[in-house]
Amino acid sequence: MYMGCMQAVAGRLTALSPMWVHLGFALLLAAAAFLGRTITFETSELALVWPAAAIHFLWALWGLRSRRNFAVALAAAVAVLAGVTLATGLSGTLAAGVVLGSTVQTLIATFLFLRLVRRPAIGTVGDYLRLGVAALIACSIGALIIVGGSAVDGSASPFATFVPWLIRHAVSLTAIGSLGIVVAAAISVRAAARESSGTSGTGPIETASLALVSLVLYGMTFGTTSGLPIAYIAIPVHMWAGLRLRSGWAMLHGLACGGFLIFFTVAGRGPFQELGEGVATYAAQSFMFIAFSLSAVLALSMDERRRLIAGLYRANEEAEASAELRDLVISRMNDGVLVAGPDRRLIFQNETSARWLGSGATQPGEPWRREYEISTPDGEPLPESANPLTLALRGIVTERMDVDLLHSEGERVHLSVDAMPLPGERGAVVVTRNVTEERVYQRDLSRFASVVAHDLMTPLTVFDGWLEMLEDPDLPVLERQASVARLQQASARMRNLIRNLLVYSLAKEERISASQLDVADAVSGIIDLRTTLRGAKVPAVHFQVHTPHPVYADERMFLQLVENLVGNALKYGRTDGTAEVTIETSVDEATGRTLVSVGDNGIGIPDADLERVFDEFHRSENGLGQASGTGLGLAICRRIAESHGGWIAVRNVPGGGAEFTISLPAEPDQMPTGRRHSEADTSSMVPTR
Ligand code: ADP
Repeated sequence: MYMGCMQAVAGRLTALSPMWVHLGFALLLAAAAFLGRTITFETSELALVWPAAAIHFLWALWGLRSRRNFAVALAAAVAVLAGVTLATGLSGTLAAGVVLGSTVQTLIATFLFLRLVRRPAIGTVGDYLRLGVAALIACSIGALIIVGGSAVDGSASPFATFVPWLIRHAVSLTAIGSLGIVVAAAISVRAAARESSGTSGTGPIETASLALVSLVLYGMTFGTTSGLPIAYIAIPVHMWAGLRLRSGWAMLHGLACGGFLIFFTVAGRGPFQELGEGVATYAAQSFMFIAFSLSAVLALSMDERRRLIAGLYRANEEAEASAELRDLVISRMNDGVLVAGPDRRLIFQNETSARWLGSGATQPGEPWRREYEISTPDGEPLPESANPLTLALRGIVTERMDVDLLHSEGERVHLSVDAMPLPGERGAVVVTRNVTEERVYQRDLSRFASVVAHDLMTPLTVFDGWLEMLEDPDLPVLERQASVARLQQASARMRNLIRNLLVYSLAKEERISASQLDVADAVSGIIDLRTTLRGAKVPAVHFQVHTPHPVYADERMFLQLVENLVGNALKYGRTDGTAEVTIETSVDEATGRTLVSVGDNGIGIPDADLERVFDEFHRSENGLGQASGTGLGLAICRRIAESHGGWIAVRNVPGGGAEFTISLPAEPDQMPTGRRHSEADTSSMVPTR
């Protein structure tokens, strides 16, 4: 509320039109000059204070925003000063001296102040002292002019006017001038609604105590007629104000105390009375100036200190925040980052790097220890001299070097490595990217290409050969029939591959028309077909089927799924007549869904491939010699399971063989939400046979 009010007032002040500001300054100058002319010792014309010098200076400083404003400020000040001095009974010559002296003095003070400080503000002790120097030089020149005026006028001793003018003008200009500049800065800060410094670090109780103690001490020192020379006992309150209040408030306090001092001195009280009028004037003003300067210098240096500390905290916080952000980004990166010192000591390693390069047994500060064999992609061991880290520590940059890491647990990681030296021989940074998946993908893709080439191109070549033979009208009937049979076989294989590709690409998008299915029916149909197709020469397979639980699924998809799994169990099963295939269902206790499992006692799947067999075109090494295939069957199964909101998993069974398990809905409300499905829709689906 209070802050909002202050901000509104500050906003209005800064929005005032120049005309109003000039008028305000003119009134202030008139009041200050009038005050100066009236606060004198009863027996002399000597003014104790001359606040008009500061108002004049501040007006000129404000006018600097444009030539016009500056000219108006100077001209109007001449008129105001002339008016007040003449109206208060000063002779024409002396009034002219005062007006000229003040104008020249203001011009010089403004010019010097702007030359000495970087910007017209009092933010540091140095700024305050520079203003003091500018005031001293400018007021000396002003005093010389009044000396000239007094000499012409002859009313006062020219020498007796120099020092009092210098003191009262320099004190006013420095004290009230610095306060005015600080207040103006505070107004513009508030108007811009920026963070303001407030009164101080003091609470209301301390502020009130300071005011009370100041009143009491000043009353005791300057308010009595005892004339005891104990002015110094007022000094602690200025130290208190300087150390605890913000500079503006400390200056205001100093000025208020100066007001008391002047008031009591003029009233014939306080320790300076004993000195006689002339000396009392200097003594009172000097005391006031020193006390004021003490507060101002202390407060300004405390402000500076607070600003520096706040800046330091801010810089610290910013540095911490950006370091945190950097660490976060680096730790979340998918690339591994490792930084080592020139002596190969580990400086930093992100989680990704630790994951790929090892379990992170090397701690920061310890020499980097390798826990893996490193080789080229062709399997050649990589010599130490070609190691990216070694090269980088010797100043050589490595870009995208492909290496294979073989970990002690048998895991093989394919990495692409960049390594570069740190500037100033401070070590090296190694960035690693795991390209295992890309490599596997590339391998699978080339396998697929060869499958396609083999299963599509070879049959076509065979077609051509057999067709050529069939063209021969003399071909014996039996050979003709054998050719036709081979042609049919080759075409069946091609159809199978093309169908698999289509099924796979459609299994993701196809609309599901689900219904309650009896698993036993589906399985027996597939087994019948399989056993009749296999023919008499193939060793028998023992099927065990126990499938009491129904599934809620798309019939075509479900048949495709079981067909693929049973087909694989036969393809990768035993060939010596002891093959067993088990098909069972159970209920998943956690979800209520039906689990269908198809197991065999065949070659099983290498552990490293248990996840990958579901990837497109992935074929395990151990099955390559046993059966041909496209590497798409299990990928199709996974898509079908997922499109029914389920999953497929495989494990090797003890004693040999693999067991696949699929989770499927048991009832309609277990279908995934958002999946397009309908009850009895028999929309187009690629035929499975
Ligand atoms: P394909 O059989 O055409 O190669 P799949 O996607 O059906 O493609 O299977 C992928 C790979 O998974 C097979 O090449 C094989 O190595 C392995 N696999 C699948 N089923 C079995 C199984 N029952 N026993 C052992 N390995 C299997």
